[in-house]
Order: sequence, then C-alpha cells, then structure tokens
Amino acid sequence: MAVMKFGGTSVGNASAMRQAIALVVRQQEKAAPLVVLSACSGITNKLVSIADAAGRSALDEAMALAGQVRKHHLDLVDELIKGEALKKELLATIEQFSLRLEMLIKGVDIVGELTERSRDMFCSFGELFSTTVFAAAMKEQGHDAEWLDVRTVMITDDNFGFARPIDELCEENTLSIIWPILKRGTVVVTQGYIGSTKDGRTTTLGRGGSDFSAALFGAWLNDDAIQIWTDVDGVMTCDPRLVPEARSIRVMTFSEAAELAYLGAKVLHPDTIAPAVQKNIPVYVLNSWHPDAKGTIITNDPARLSGKSYGGLVKSIAVKKEQCIINVRSNRMLGRHGFMTELFGVFSRYGISVEMISTSEVSVSLTVDEKSFSNELILELKGFGEVDIEHHVATVSVVGDNLRMSRGVAGRIFGALKDVNLRMISQGASEINVGFVVEESEVATAVSTLHREFFSDLEGSGIFEVPAGSR
Ligand code: ADP
Ligand code: ASP
Ligand code: MG
Repeated sequence: MAVMKFGGTSVGNASAMRQAIALVVRQQEKAAPLVVLSACSGITNKLVSIADAAGRSALDEAMALAGQVRKHHLDLVDELIKGEALKKELLATIEQFSLRLEMLIKGVDIVGELTERSRDMFCSFGELFSTTVFAAAMKEQGHDAEWLDVRTVMITDDNFGFARPIDELCEENTLSIIWPILKRGTVVVTQGYIGSTKDGRTTTLGRGGSDFSAALFGAWLNDDAIQIWTDVDGVMTCDPRLVPEARSIRVMTFSEAAELAYLGAKVLHPDTIAPAVQKNIPVYVLNSWHPDAKGTIITNDPARLSGKSYGGLVKSIAVKKEQCIINVRSNRMLGRHGFMTELFGVFSRYGISVEMISTSEVSVSLTVDEKSFSNELILELKGFGEVDIEHHVATVSVVGDNLRMSRGVAGRIFGALKDVNLRMISQGASEINVGFVVEESEVATAVSTLHREFFSDLEGSGIFEVPAGSR
C-alpha cells in the first residue's frame, strides 16, 4: 500500500485535481492508497493573512479575504461536480466551513487578540476545504473514496503552530480507523498539516507540514512507499526557480534528503524523512504534471545505492534566504569555559533557532532567520561583547554523502567562488554539507557558478535527469 501526498499546486485548481484523481485511481488498481492533501496553493497564506487581519480588528479586510477563500472553493465545486444531489451536499459543506471561518474572524475581532491556538484553527480550513472537494470529485467520477477528518487520528501535543504527534496514539488510531477502510479497497482522502489535541483543539504541524503528515502515516501503516506529488520532477540539484539548468536527482539517501530539507530545499518538509527512516520506507518525490518522469527515490536500499543512478560528489545545493548574521566579539571568550553556554542560552530563551555557526578564539558568528531578529535580543547579546549584524544575507549549502570521503571539495567550492564575497563559512558536523553565507544579491551568481562547477560534467551520466518540462 502507499500514501500519496499532493501539494498545493497539485490540487490548486480543477485541472490539477482531475490530474491528481487520475493518479490516485491508477494506484487504486493495485491497492487503495491513503491520500493526504495540502490546501489549494495560496490558500494557507490567505488564511494566515485573515488571522492577522482579525487579530488587529481589520474586520472588513478579514471578511473580504474569507470571501475570496469561499469563492475559490465554490468555483472548484462548480467546475468539478455536475451531479445535482452531490453538488448540493458539497455546497452546503463549503458554506458551513465558510460560516465557521467567519465566526472565528468575528470572535477574534471581539476578543481583540490572536492566539497561536486560534491561528491554527484559521489555518486548518485550507486542508478541510481541499479534501472535501477532492473526495466529492472522486465520488462524482464513480470511484470508491471516503473523506476523513484527520483530527480523529492525528492526535498531537498542544504546541500550537508546531505540534508534534503522540506517536503511539496516532499509530493505534491509524490502524483502527484508516486501515480497515483501505483494506476493503476504499481510498481515504484526508488532510495533511493539521491535527488535534487530545481534548479536541485543532493544531498544525508547521508550514509545509503535509509532507510530514504523509510520512507519519506511511510509517504507521507500514506502507511500501510514501509518494510526495509536487510541481517539480523530484528533488533537484538546486531549486529550479534559482537555476533553470537544475536537474532531477534519481536516487538519494535518507541523510542527503534530510540534510537538504533542513538546509532550505522547500521541496520536502525537514521532518519528512525521520518516519520513513524509522520503518525504512522509500520516499518517492514525483511531479503530478509529469507523472511518468522518473522523479527521485529517497532510500537506503543498498541495491539502489550501488546502481548506476546513484552517485556524484555533490547531490544538491540548498539556499535559505532572509537570514541575518550576528557577530559577537569578546576577549572574555579567551580560555574561559561556560561562555558559549551562556551565549546560546540567550537564543534558547528567545526561542530562536541558530542556523549556521562559525567560531574563533574571540568571536562567534552565527546566522538566524531574519524573522526571529529583535532589538531586545541584540541588547542582551551586547552584554557579552561587541555585536554587529549583517542583514539581507542567505545561507548556501552544498550537500552530498560523498563529500565525507572526498578531498579537495572545499578547494573546488571556494575556488569557483573566488569572485563572490563570502560573509561566513561553515562545515556541517555531519560532514555531508559545506555551507557559506553571501549577500542576497549574490545568491544567483554563487549558486549558478557552483552548479556549473559540480554538475555540468555529469550530463548523461544517468545520475540526474533533465526535467520533463524542459526536454
Ligand atoms: P508542494 O506545494 O507540492 O508541497 P512546495 O512549493 O512546498 O510544493 O515545494 C516545491 C518547490 O520547492 C518547487 O516548486 C521548487 O521551487 C522548490 N525547491 C527548492 N529547492 C528544491 C530542490 N532542491 N529540488 C526541487 N524543488 C526545490
Ligand atoms: N497548506 C500548508 C502550507 O501551505 C501545509 C502544506 O502545504 O504542506 O504550509
Ligand atoms: Mg511543500
């Protein structure tokens, strides 16, 4: 059996939904899959804006945006559903969700405060809408499918905005609720990204979390495959939006994929790999617009990893934009112990995740997400020594398992980048990535230079594929 996850653009409009349904039906011929969906593309962003508007009592703005969300789904129903009875039922459900969304807006407006808990409630509507329409469209075409509210299965802690599942409980629920439906050949259509606390409060797993949901279900169901259907031909040598020559990677290891996701490749949510590793389930990243393109297989299967399609020194280049560098310089560091603990304690107290670090005897440089930057943080850091900040920078990381065993890689990277102004350099402790920081304005040059350096001689090697869209 398989879990099939479709991302926002793969269910974003009527033709995308039809295409995704065709893929589900093709899979159903083998065994009924569990279908995990994102919200239609752009909808979660709109819901975030609605929540923010409601929180600052911009009622008209919030209601107007909610009207757009409602219209998007009503239009979808109009295009996809022709049967009168089904359409009536579906329109009633859409109206019901829309009404609840509007009630939530008014509630937050009256209270005058947006909590993380209510923000999750807002964000949950996107997946509820998309799955409702999708399941109905499958039924309309005569397929055996059932809509499931994932909040009866995905039970999480109450860390709103970044909830984590309670593993044993979820596994039990998956096997008692989802498994019997799949076993009788019925496709289950459910929401990624959202869950519920034990006492029924809606939670979310963090932005982009539908990949994580799918991987968790794959592990709980002990599936043969986790399929992530998206808008590119698998994991690529770089974000194709940055480098048009990017190629799709045929085979990757779990560690390469995890590292890449953590270092900024948006194609996979960073937590996706762990559940797959736990049960050794291959993850396939595939393009719903080019379903017959090979895409990427992420696996630790020795047979795959010794084949012709696995190889290459660098597997991919990841970029994280909107970062800032914080440099702390202090003579107190020299020969003292406990300095780092105190320094990182500050970041921990502010709940800020430090991305890249580089140290010398008397200074520490680190990068944090621009969004987590605050003047209070800097004020506190000034208690440690001289602090300076560089805004508008990006981290660029070169990732590949084979970097571990190879000599001269750093020489090749920094030789190729001799004309780029590097603000900071760091090698990951895993030894499978080398990272550096550049000004945002230099990202495009740095990345295409590296891409040329490491991938141009591998054309036709079978390790990478030209994406179907650009053949
Ligand atoms: P989905 O909605 O299907 O989850 P996302 O937008 O979250 O899709 O992720 C797919 C996008 O990730 C691609 O359109 C691409 O621009 C971006 N991306 C970033 N890095 C990579 C990479 N190394 N390989 C493929 N895509 C990447
Ligand atoms: N819809 C959610 C988001 O946009 C989750 C996802 O798409 O994975 O973040
Ligand atoms: Mg995504």
